[in-house]
Amino acid sequence: MKFKCCDYLLNEIVFAQSSVIPCCCSPVHNYQTHFLSDFNGKEFSIEEYLSKRDHYINEFKSGKIPTSCTGCYKIQEKEWDESYLINRIIITNRTKCSCNCIYCSLVTTSNQSKQELNTRQTYDIVPVLYDLYSKNIIQEGCIITIAGGECTEYPKGELEYILYMAAFLNCKLEILSSGMFYSNSIKRVLNASSCVLKISVDSGQKNTFEQIKRVKAYRQTWKNIKQYIQDSSKNNNSLVLIKYIIIPGINDNLTEVKFFIDKCKRVGCKNIELAVEYLWFYKNKNNKPSDSIKETVLYIKKSGLLISYESQCEEYLNSIS
Ligand code: SF4
Ligand code: SF4
Repeated sequence: MKFKCCDYLLNEIVFAQSSVIPCCCSPVHNYQTHFLSDFNGKEFSIEEYLSKRDHYINEFKSGKIPTSCTGCYKIQEKEWDESYLINRIIITNRTKCSCNCIYCSLVTTSNQSKQELNTRQTYDIVPVLYDLYSKNIIQEGCIITIAGGECTEYPKGELEYILYMAAFLNCKLEILSSGMFYSNSIKRVLNASSCVLKISVDSGQKNTFEQIKRVKAYRQTWKNIKQYIQDSSKNNNSLVLIKYIIIPGINDNLTEVKFFIDKCKRVGCKNIELAVEYLWFYKNKNNKPSDSIKETVLYIKKSGLLISYESQCEEYLNSIS
């Protein structure tokens, strides 16, 4: 059937701090989760989840856009595969991270301090993943995104369990990491599994790194990136992607981006993901990009490296030529 909807609602599930939601489009709906909230990990009811999801799908099918989705850039009209199997699971229930990025959504969109986030207890995701699997709603080869806080700082053994589960379910992995701590478990998946490791560095110079990440880990992070790139070098199914989030007024200048591209080339990086800091982006996306943003983007585009864009700002960045 052809109708307006989004593949996130139909096929994605996000395990957030204390809720289960279909997408991470928080700026779209003012950071309010709009779907099966208040999940503590103990009594996950797949039936309740599917029934709430059906409610939203039916609204879309009847031509009505749910209030919480109004204005979302992900809505499109097309023929949808109506099996509605889950093809992407995002794990973002933990909040501990030794980095302290100025744009971190964990801090900027919650009332919790960094200290609270670093000591916050949460649920164990592994039994929930197994439950999803046993109910046959996960698509073969689906993507598991291991996101926040920082997966190398998960409680002992948890990252390894998730990676084991991903292998068991034949999933592709997407791992988001600060890059501060080298992980032998990540090394193993880069070596032998299907895995994209994303590390956001956002800078080329030490002082800018420390201004953005607010932690003294510039050398260690680049050293770890170099090692991860070597770990993935013999596996065509893996890659390490270095991310540059443009933060207007801080790293949108030629000096910074030249250092950044130079660093990327020195560590053997071939893939870059470009993004724009999302709070700034949602306020300014309808305005013309400034000269400094244009210069920054064009320099990266002409670097000879493979460039991809974070989906929410893809159109904006693509238009800069
Ligand atoms: S339309 Fe946007 S806000 Fe609504 S479920 Fe889809 S991705 Fe999320
Ligand atoms: S690395 Fe990620 S989780 Fe950690 S502070 Fe930065 S944005 Fe937040």
